[in-house]
Amino acid sequence: MKDRSLLMIPGPIEFEPAVLGAMGAPTTSHVAPDFIETFGRAIEGLREVWHAPTGQPFILAGSGTLAMDTAGANLVEPGDRVLVLSTGVFGDRFVDLLGRYGTQVDVLRTVPGETVDFDAVRDQLASADYKLMTATHVDTSTAVRVNAQTFGALGAEFGVLTILDGVCSVAGEEIRQDEWQLDVVLTASQKAIGVPPGLALVVAGPRAIQAFENRTTPVQNYYADWAKWLPIMRAYEDRRPSYFGTPAVNLVCALACSLELILAEGMETRWARHAVIGEAMRAAIHALDLGQIPTSDDHAANTLSAPRIPTGLEPPRLLSGIREAGVILAGGLYPELRSAYFRVGHMGAVRTGDLLATIGAIESSLASCGYPVSVGDGLRAAQHVLAA
Ligand code: PMP
Repeated sequence: MKDRSLLMIPGPIEFEPAVLGAMGAPTTSHVAPDFIETFGRAIEGLREVWHAPTGQPFILAGSGTLAMDTAGANLVEPGDRVLVLSTGVFGDRFVDLLGRYGTQVDVLRTVPGETVDFDAVRDQLASADYKLMTATHVDTSTAVRVNAQTFGALGAEFGVLTILDGVCSVAGEEIRQDEWQLDVVLTASQKAIGVPPGLALVVAGPRAIQAFENRTTPVQNYYADWAKWLPIMRAYEDRRPSYFGTPAVNLVCALACSLELILAEGMETRWARHAVIGEAMRAAIHALDLGQIPTSDDHAANTLSAPRIPTGLEPPRLLSGIREAGVILAGGLYPELRSAYFRVGHMGAVRTGDLLATIGAIESSLASCGYPVSVGDGLRAAQHVLAA
């Protein structure tokens, strides 16, 4: 029997062999001409994937939390009032993060499973003078998607900067940064961008860069300061050597490779592929009568799903049965609901066969745990969506 499992958690994901190959190439100098060219192409690729022709990309060594931190640290100053729209654990992370920089943070938090109510956001924006607001496009703790276009439009209408945490959405869910007037869209490499963990990826639009340049106080974070990184990003794009902190050379090579594959697939095709995969997974969840955390399919993410676990069934038992069938899934993350659901990632290089193997493994584990499941119902429902 082959000693391997299928990694279907919401990041890190399964990576394309070509990307892993690019990452495994001998490490070169960060100022070698061929590496400068690779870095320059990666910057240009980010702009295309984000649909942000006027955006300024940043590629930093770090995780998604650094991407959040660099956006926050550079755009707020002590005393600023900010609004966090939270649909789960990662929305809440911005409350702590922005508070560290001396801001007054207000939060609009939804009941877990619900998406943002933009009428309430509009009322809140009208009630005070906000500098910035954040939203999590797909909160990985609840699998809830927020309407990023409405978020951007409201920010533009009220003159409030918008940061979209796209860690679980960029390159999987539709995003048009410029057209949707989103000031910052950020992600991490290990998700739908399809590169092993270790890169924080941020694209800042012109209003964000302007707000950064208009600061009257220094950025209170040394490593994340755009004043340090802007000249580096501009130099790489101009194909000139530069240095502030050593870039993650091998990861940047992998990123350039993955961006090339993503752009060869085409963004519209890629978003549509994720939409079909997401719909197929939800069809299986419904056919197995499991229920899910998102309260409607209309705002359920296409990059991951959050099926509920039948009452009385312990999550470790269900997940170990799935693992025995060769598939690795993730447990619940939202603190109050942790043992009520599990999470299935389906983004990036995921193929329909991976999804079917995952649904089959869920069915067989449910059956062996004694849950009255009609094995095959989930697969049939998913196949039906995939065939259409
Ligand atoms: N935001 C979201 C939506 C995420 O899913 C994650 C990671 N799961 C993060 C932020 C933080 O990213 P990282 O773990 O790479 O720091």
